[in-house]
Amino acid sequence: MLNGYIDLRSDTVTQPTPEMREAMAQAELGDDVFGDDPTINRLEEMAAAKMGKAAAVFVASGTMGNLVSLLTHCNRGEEVIVGSEAHIFRYEAGGSSALGGIAQFQIPNNPDGTLPLDRVEAAIRGSDQHEARTKLIALENTQNRCGGTVLPVDYMKQVRALADKHSLNVHLDGARVFNAAVALGVDVKEITQYVDSVTFCLSKGLSAPVGSVICGSPEFIAKARRYRKMLGGGMRQAGVLAAAGIVALEKMIDRLADDHANARRLAEGLADTPGFVVDLDRVQTNIVFFELDANAKVTADVVTQRMLEHKVKLISPGVHFRRFRAVTHAWVDRADIDRTLLAFKAAVT
Ligand SMILES: *Cc1c(COP(=O)(O)O)cnc(C)c1O
Repeated sequence: MLNGYIDLRSDTVTQPTPEMREAMAQAELGDDVFGDDPTINRLEEMAAAKMGKAAAVFVASGTMGNLVSLLTHCNRGEEVIVGSEAHIFRYEAGGSSALGGIAQFQIPNNPDGTLPLDRVEAAIRGSDQHEARTKLIALENTQNRCGGTVLPVDYMKQVRALADKHSLNVHLDGARVFNAAVALGVDVKEITQYVDSVTFCLSKGLSAPVGSVICGSPEFIAKARRYRKMLGGGMRQAGVLAAAGIVALEKMIDRLADDHANARRLAEGLADTPGFVVDLDRVQTNIVFFELDANAKVTADVVTQRMLEHKVKLISPGVHFRRFRAVTHAWVDRADIDRTLLAFKAAVT
């Protein structure tokens, strides 16, 4: 429960824990643009170590993390290969194209979230003067729009091999990469060892109020700092935010397994509820996509409205769509899931 509601709109609604608020209040601070903020420096060292990279930089959001990373990898007129369902393509306001002059070659994601390797290879171009030059492959793990699906470690390895064959870099939009690691039961480094840069969110399932971190080589991160500054992201006493991020990395990763179990419970309950259709294979982490059955007597908008009356918040799919997304997080417990399922039964009839 969050402010009296079961809020399933996103894991971005999570709030800092009491321990985070305490750490924020006590944080030792400096001016981070001068490299003087000890709390930021500590968070960046911790994040780099966790990801198995030599350096890291704190940024305001996941969107800024991806934009700074793409600007660092690609010059104007160069191209990134990206999934048609990728957050970078769908939900970042076209930033890398608008601000970086970077072309995007979109490849339809497989239903499991991967990009077909043969199509990635066929998309690599730049030897002919007509073509934008491919510089980067961008992956997303977990893959939000495919259902929070997990890209397997072996797939990451295959993409690395393909990138090496063509002298390309690989960026990982790892907004929820800890969900992927927990779901696979592996250290997150197993996943990130195959990419040149990774950005992850502190502000989603990990419950910190603000911030993401980009991790990569020292040269990459030094260049990324310049782009962060250019975009207005050089924050001063940002250690107040990093203090919550440190607690997030220390305390909030292992418990993501609870969110996955709750998502599973929700998905199985919905699958048993006449009126809803769920593809259970794709419920792998904390995200549940489900649809109103074609025969349902109500519209998705009405369901959303009725759920709100039952104190459950959902994003409305809009009048033309039937597909819902529900996301579990630390402010939703098992009892909330059971209440939500009862509300869905009532709302669909
Ligand atoms: C949320 C999200 C982002 C962006 O994060 P913001 O902090 O909301 O800007 C990037 N990629 C994916 C896959 C996300 O889910």
